[in-house]
Amino acid sequence: MARSSSDRDSAFRRLPSMDEVLRDPRAAALTSRAPRALVLELLAAELADWREEIKEGRLDGAALDGRVAQGDLYHRAGARLERELGRGVVRAVNASGVVLNTGLGRAPVHPEAAEAMRVAAESYCVLEVDRWSGERNQRDDYLSDLLRRLTGAEAAIGVNNNAGAVLLVFNTFAQGGRALVSRGELVEIGGSFRVPSVMERAGVELVEVGTTNRTRIADYAAAVDARTGLVIKVHTSNFRVVGFTEEASAAEIAQLGHDRGVTTAFDLGSGLLELAGARPLAPLLGGEPLLSDAIASGVDVVTFSGDKLLGGPQAGLLVGTAAAIAKLRKNPLYRALRLDKVALAGLEKTLELVLAGRGGELPTRAMLAATADELRPRAEALSKALAVLPGLACTIVAEGSQPGSGSAPGVLLPTWVVRATHSKLSAGALAARLRAATTPVFARVQEGAVLLDPRTLLPGDAERLVAAFRAVLSGS
Ligand SMILES: *Cc1c(COP(=O)(O)O)cnc(C)c1O
Repeated sequence: MARSSSDRDSAFRRLPSMDEVLRDPRAAALTSRAPRALVLELLAAELADWREEIKEGRLDGAALDGRVAQGDLYHRAGARLERELGRGVVRAVNASGVVLNTGLGRAPVHPEAAEAMRVAAESYCVLEVDRWSGERNQRDDYLSDLLRRLTGAEAAIGVNNNAGAVLLVFNTFAQGGRALVSRGELVEIGGSFRVPSVMERAGVELVEVGTTNRTRIADYAAAVDARTGLVIKVHTSNFRVVGFTEEASAAEIAQLGHDRGVTTAFDLGSGLLELAGARPLAPLLGGEPLLSDAIASGVDVVTFSGDKLLGGPQAGLLVGTAAAIAKLRKNPLYRALRLDKVALAGLEKTLELVLAGRGGELPTRAMLAATADELRPRAEALSKALAVLPGLACTIVAEGSQPGSGSAPGVLLPTWVVRATHSKLSAGALAARLRAATTPVFARVQEGAVLLDPRTLLPGDAERLVAAFRAVLSGS
């Protein structure tokens, strides 16, 4: 412990200078693995931490000398480098059972959509030009037609994500005016998307209608005035209010809009569609509203995400009346929120697959629809492959998987998981090692065990998962 300021000063003086540090061959070993500037940054960061420890009296001169003598600086900078080289958007194995896992990139797309995205990324592509006339057009003209064919809506456009879609709706129809939202629907989604904040940034005054648990159409009707530009219904994706509740239906809101000449919208979030050639999801997802019902309700615009229940790349999709969509398209914000060519190519392919009756092949659809009976043999096979590893004990147990991404809160899809425990490592420590593996594995930790859900494993993931276990358990 550095007790006096002179102890502290002497410890500071004994910190090696960066010149000395870099002259050491152990620094050269690091710079052979990564750019010199990065190694310098990491060594400097480690030294800065040491300086902080000295300042706070947690590191004295003798302890510092010990660290220097043992080469701690290079070991620790090496550990930092290891982490640095594993950062970024790298492939991960999702064994959490949360299908639309926002932390893990939500929907993995169909291989044919992924291929379309790869080609669009690495080549020129027909994006904003009509190849037959040679004239400029809108990049999402084709997407718009696909969505129209799929949903029966008059028109559609796509933007970068659904938060952007909702921002665009508020700004287009109610900027400088008012929008009505039920008090029960002023939701926060994912921490950074709060309906009231989005409205504020869209230049819209929020008029709260009804109460947290009960809002009737009469409440909306009483609040409509000359400044009202929009009445919007927001699906409470990530929570349920139970008990003494009442909400106005989308159809009632649409009728009110027609009667009073106000635009109406429904932010669905997940966008549940039943697809030809795919098992129905509505019975599994407990009351998640259907896109088809939202459109049939007669509201002017319906918004939903491309990468939630649709199972495509990140996007915000807006479908509705030709007049409303045309207004959205004219808003300069639309240009700022537009889809990039890679996501657009993936979305087009996803929708083509769906329209061809191949929706059941979309990875997230297949995962959501998988039954416990189908998952059980996969859990058994995984358990057998893991049980041979040293120190590991595995059983399979009946559990539930979450749809995720704020879809169907409270719904658990019946599944079978591998329950893995280690003779020495705690479940938390084992899970942490799995996340740090070359191909990171994300699992649930529950009641002292690591739970591995086969529902969210993609082709090849079981092998990746076993390899990660083998690597993290060697030597423990
Ligand atoms: C998820 C969600 C959003 C945000 O969608 P992103 O595609 O994540 O931007 C907005 N509204 C609702 C109701 C949602 O569920």
